Amino acid sequence: MPSIDQERRLLPTYEYKQDLIDAIREHSFLVVIGETGSGKTTQIPQYILEEMPEMKKIGVTQPRRIAAITVSKRVSEEHGTPLGKDVGYLIRFDDHTSSSTRLKYMTDGILLREAVQDPTLSQYSVVIVDEAHERTLETDVLFGLLKKTHRLRPELKILVMSATLDVEKFSDFFDECPIFEIPGRTFPVQIIHHQSMKINALKSNFVSTAVETAFYIHTKEKAGDVLVFLTGQADIDRACQEFKDKCNELDYNRDVKYYDVEDEEQVKDVSVYPLYASLETMEQRAVFELSRRGSRKVVFSTNVAQTSVTIPGIKYVVDSGFVKEKSYDPNTGMDALLVTSISKAAATQRAGRAGRTAPGKAYRLYSSESFEQLPDDTIPEIQRSSLLSTVLALKRMNIVDVLNFEFIDKPDETLVMKALSQLFLLGAIDNHGVITELGKQMSQFPLSPYLSRVIISSAMEYECSEEVLTIASVLAGDNDLFRAPSPRQGEDLIAEAEKCKLKLAHHSGDHMTILNVWNEWRRNDESRRWCRDNWVNHKALANAKSVRSQLIDIANQLKLPMVRTRRIEVERTNGGKKEGRSKEVVREVDAVPVLKSFLTGYYTNIANKASGRSVFSHYAPDQHLAEKSSHTSSALVALYLHPLCALSDMFDRNKTRYSQIEWVMYMHVTYTNRAVMKGVSKILWDWVRSGKGHERIRQLATAHLNGVDKKKFDKKRKQLLDDSSAQASSVESSDT
Ligand code: ADP
Ligand code: MG
Repeated sequence: MPSIDQERRLLPTYEYKQDLIDAIREHSFLVVIGETGSGKTTQIPQYILEEMPEMKKIGVTQPRRIAAITVSKRVSEEHGTPLGKDVGYLIRFDDHTSSSTRLKYMTDGILLREAVQDPTLSQYSVVIVDEAHERTLETDVLFGLLKKTHRLRPELKILVMSATLDVEKFSDFFDECPIFEIPGRTFPVQIIHHQSMKINALKSNFVSTAVETAFYIHTKEKAGDVLVFLTGQADIDRACQEFKDKCNELDYNRDVKYYDVEDEEQVKDVSVYPLYASLETMEQRAVFELSRRGSRKVVFSTNVAQTSVTIPGIKYVVDSGFVKEKSYDPNTGMDALLVTSISKAAATQRAGRAGRTAPGKAYRLYSSESFEQLPDDTIPEIQRSSLLSTVLALKRMNIVDVLNFEFIDKPDETLVMKALSQLFLLGAIDNHGVITELGKQMSQFPLSPYLSRVIISSAMEYECSEEVLTIASVLAGDNDLFRAPSPRQGEDLIAEAEKCKLKLAHHSGDHMTILNVWNEWRRNDESRRWCRDNWVNHKALANAKSVRSQLIDIANQLKLPMVRTRRIEVERTNGGKKEGRSKEVVREVDAVPVLKSFLTGYYTNIANKASGRSVFSHYAPDQHLAEKSSHTSSALVALYLHPLCALSDMFDRNKTRYSQIEWVMYMHVTYTNRAVMKGVSKILWDWVRSGKGHERIRQLATAHLNGVDKKKFDKKRKQLLDDSSAQASSVESSDT
């Protein structure tokens, strides 16, 4: 085994160490390209750290939290200091840096926030924007800001690092700066297309096809590890299970080509790993270790293995052709994670992972014709998201004229207009487009402007900030609060899990259910055991706890009062028909102010029950107004309750509550084969009509912002107000 120092010297960047240092000394802007795994992320910042003592602090951005963590851990190990000393990381809600930290890995979002607080970025001598090819929204905005920062501080060094060749654009943007290319040491990769499969047809079954292909490789190909690209935790967990099941039935003597017990190189065993952006999977060291002789490693991964992390030993790649991507959904006006087909550039990157240390093979699950039809490059996130937080951040930096901000690729003007009008309606900017006091407060929270707005109203208007902060902390994380047994674990377990959830569920829906779960967890000493016994996700609560204390700090800085809401008395019916019902009066938290607080942010995320089935129709007030926009065609969409929702019929087999639902508010929509609401609670239409929500809808009708055509709005406004019930018409269910 080579020592860690030897490993470093073997990387392609090593040869170019001095040239890189010279180039950094000479130029303000520098673009660096090099194959994934060549040492850009771990080595180049270290060269600066070790060889350029004149550089104070080096900041390196990563689009993924998980990459910032793993990379900084690896680099502190290489550097020989404990994490958080010379080398550290800072991501939202998690700070591993200290006053002596000189090399700081962070998410691009963090640097963006720092640039908001301090436009000169005075603490840094060098800023490195890594994984620039990913073109996240934050990275794109950083580009524009860094150019400004450079005008204020010409001595600041700015590096842009990318794994793809298409970097002319970056160089052009940064005053036609030089491009430093680190030649890759890659081996040929044979590409095998699934010729009869069109990518559109593949969408419904790429998981099982990927499993079959991985299994084919395991039984028919020579030794070498396998990397399978899927889209997210759910399909990866499923694929791991299916693949393991197939392997359990495998008889190596019978099923494996060229099987030879005596042969040392022969594959006789397999280990299977999931890899997605959660610490548990990323910290399984074994994924990053070479396989034992005679054993094959099969990794089912998200896009994180495409360019962010390198798994050694990969000789075979299976490319499903799909990725989960944040996209603006015009139907709901929200960002959602959607499974979409990848670009040619991404497919090429994926295939490249097979040829890092030896010749390899890439199995594409789609035809070469489908490959040819893929777009050349991934659309930058800025051109497919709602832009709300971004626009607010820009406003906070006193960039009033957002439409003329120096973007590397301009976002769609209509989306910018939409973000401006939503921020106006949330009260974050005034009708001249200038940020308000409320907007400044909102921008202090590292949350979506909707959720920040909710927290502020809970403190200032509805006197329930204690409760709302708890609920918001859980919602801010991306873990589901409840766990569900998989169907294969049997009916008994499923029934038991449902019973537990029913016990914790609140009749008004998910918001108050979250509060119930939190309170019970606290009452049970925050125990893991309690979580396990009740099918609750301990991690979701533990994360929420840390998020909550940080949100409280921010709320305190903003002098927002922390208040507990009143308790009310409610009559509860106990027991079923058999035992005879009894009534008792219990005291519980009043859900009304809590839900009204949430409505101040999410007043457009409301839906009403359609035609007695499990379908809701989205009510899109602003879309009633948006004339001729591409969104109007499907202003009303069918929405379904997520099975883990407290209001879903899983919790209520007799449908007693369900039948009483008319209007609901939801936090977001996810997509499987249909649009599914998450974070759903019952509301009354009256709260919207008499409350802030309706006021905002009226305002929307009269809003005239930075060039929005007032006449157009006036016409639509009349229409809206005439429509006195203002209720969305039902949609036909496609479910039956
Ligand atoms: P790049 O940024 O060019 O894709 P990196 O600097 O991330 O490359 O990685 C360079 C090399 O360092 C990888 O090829 C791998 O061998 C090694 N490496 C990186 N991270 C780890 C880790 N967490 N554990 C072990 N080796 C690692
Ligand atoms: Mg890298």
